[in-house]
Formats: sequence, C-alpha cells, structure tokens
Amino acid sequence: MSLTEYRKKRNFGVTPEPAEARSRGRRAAVYAVQKHAASHLHYDLRLEAAGVLKSWAIPKEPTPAEGVKRLAVETEDHPLGYEKFKGTIPEGEYGAGRVEVWDKGSYTLMERTAWKWVVAIRGRRLRGRFALIKLKPKPGEKDKNWLFFRLKEES
Ligand code: MN
Repeated sequence: MSLTEYRKKRNFGVTPEPAEARSRGRRAAVYAVQKHAASHLHYDLRLEAAGVLKSWAIPKEPTPAEGVKRLAVETEDHPLGYEKFKGTIPEGEYGAGRVEVWDKGSYTLMERTAWKWVVAIRGRRLRGRFALIKLKPKPGEKDKNWLFFRLKEES
C-alpha cells in the first residue's frame, strides 16, 4: 500500500492530478469509477482500502447487469481524493487524456481474499453486490487481471 508508483509515473508540475491525499473526516469507504479517454478509452474502478484507492482499469463500460463479466486490470494505488478528479491530463504525460467521474458513492466490503473481493456498491449507475475475481496468469503474463461483475441478488 504505497503511492510510490503513482508518484513515479507523474510530473505534478504538469499534470493537474493530485500529488497527495486530501485529509478527510470519518465516512463510508469510497467507491468511484472514472471514465478515462486515454490512448484507449477505459473505466477506472476505485475502491478505498487501507488509506489508498485500490484501482483497476476496465476496458469496456461496467454494467449493472448480473453476471456480465468485465476484464479489470489492476493498476497502481491512487491517493484518496483522486476519485473526485476530473480534467485533462496533458499530452505527453502519463495517462494523457480526459478524465470524468462516471459513477461515485460508497461501498461495504463483504469478503476479501488474495484472489476475490465481494463488495456492496452504492453508486448511481452501479448498485448491489459485485465481485472481483483474480484470474490465474498464463505463463509470462502479468499477475494483474481480474474479472469484475455483478452477483445475482439473493432473494
Ligand atoms: Mn486510467
């Protein structure tokens, strides 16, 4: 849990992104999705855990439809407060392109292991129980691929 990689990738003299977390009072854990028009359009899922935003880049728009799986590629931890960032990261900078807030709210952690998260999301577009399941890497592949999808609601 460290922001070293986040900071290493960015030049804060140029990008309008935050360098540090903003101090916050007591509140529910942050959930957000940012739509990021970088060289490839994707959706950045942010879930607060242990003082940072755990982050995954989702190449296809997330969906509230039950069981419809999306690839979610784990990326570097981001500082708390980043979930509010919207703006344009300049050409030539890491992640250059427009960022907007696609969804926001809070979540409750129901279950977490090294390869599985179950979260109850309270957003505007996404609501309900979602899972993140880590995929077993193929030889030579990076160990960063997850699936993100809504679980069937228990009746
Ligand atoms: Mn991104």
